[in-house]
Amino acid sequence: DSTTRVVVLGSTGSIGLSTLNVIESDGSGRLRAHGLSAHSNWRRLADQARAISPRFVTVTDHQPADEVRAALRGTDVEVLTGVEGVIRMVQDPATDRVLNAIVGAAGLNGTWAALEAGKTVALANKETLVVAGPLIMDLARRRNARLLPVDSEHSAIFQALQSGNRREVRRVILTSSGGPFRGKTRRELLKVTPEEALNHPTWRMGPKITIDSATLMNKALEVIEARWLFDLEPDQIEVVIHPESMIHSMVEFVDGSVIAQLSPPDMRLPIQYALTYPDRSPCPGPLLDLTKPSALHFEPPDRETFPALDLAYEVMKRGGTAGAALNAANEVAVGRFLGGEIGFLDIPRACRSVLDHHEFDPRPTLDQLWKIDAWARLEVQRWIP
Ligand code: NDP
Ligand code: MG
Repeated sequence: DSTTRVVVLGSTGSIGLSTLNVIESDGSGRLRAHGLSAHSNWRRLADQARAISPRFVTVTDHQPADEVRAALRGTDVEVLTGVEGVIRMVQDPATDRVLNAIVGAAGLNGTWAALEAGKTVALANKETLVVAGPLIMDLARRRNARLLPVDSEHSAIFQALQSGNRREVRRVILTSSGGPFRGKTRRELLKVTPEEALNHPTWRMGPKITIDSATLMNKALEVIEARWLFDLEPDQIEVVIHPESMIHSMVEFVDGSVIAQLSPPDMRLPIQYALTYPDRSPCPGPLLDLTKPSALHFEPPDRETFPALDLAYEVMKRGGTAGAALNAANEVAVGRFLGGEIGFLDIPRACRSVLDHHEFDPRPTLDQLWKIDAWARLEVQRWIP
């Protein structure tokens, strides 16, 4: 049949909610939620399961599994737990696509298991590629499995690439809104609060990626994501600040032609495209109205105020375990900033320190990457500014 059965990992988060909205409002009726996962928000997961009736749900945090079971008694929804539950859902023979919207390195397991079973993965969890890019791309090749971008910049590049030959690409230009602190000096950033950093000008997202957008670490992670996803050299990836978030990224071909993708800042479009690709469905949200007076602005990023970008290029140059170290350090540093334990400018500092001190390995296995991840988390946990 023509139904696409989708397993949504992280269905209770920002991308997860938008994904369920896309599935629900899909006019063709071809998309169906086959499985859902949540970590701690068991009430929302139970509500989603009651409304949608997926085949199964997984609670990855072991604590609230009994509550979900109780809430779903009398329904046909099977309740699974832990990483094992995630693996069973994504590898289920009836699963057609996996949309991975888990936040952080915790999303890596789900991507891995899905690719191993040859499933198409719609990837929002960029951390997967930052931590284990080469291993993931190699696995996808061996299993003949597809990775489709959900990140708006990468969806834009993916769409722009369709107008040329891969060998004819000169570079890609990732756009960034600049976040809430665009134009600020380091002095001004010294005392910013989590509340100020959580106030993003153009996007509403989960807390971790919102802080990443304020430090420009999100763009740093996206540069690394683009390298692996599109098989680019580091010097083929550029970042430009574009405050309107209307152009989501661009590809420049060898002849100098630049192809851009434009749409309103609404994640439902890239999510939908990753679920219906190679087809397109009617627009899930508002349309761009370019007949109204408007302007597009571009400026270079301020790398001194936002050192995260330089970290990305250094991580790409080093390869190996560097991405796993950077990602884990950043996850814990963001948590400590949100908890009021460290300052805003300490986030890239902690990352720099971990990058400089970690036991580098140029060709790590997945196990070694997890060891570096655990080590880096401990380091930043006890790091003193
Ligand atoms: P949210 O914080 O809103 O949601 C995160 C989801 O992951 C929740 O469902 C949460 O479950 C689950 N989760 C948290 N920790 C774990 C864990 N240890 N194991 C398993 N599941 C866990 O994040 P976003 O939706 O904003 O972002 C999700 C991913 O998508 C990130 O990688 C982000 O970088 C990427 N992305 C997000 C965009 C956006 O617009 N939000 C844009 C582009 C990319 P629970 O709530 O039940 O605890
Ligand atoms: Mg993005």
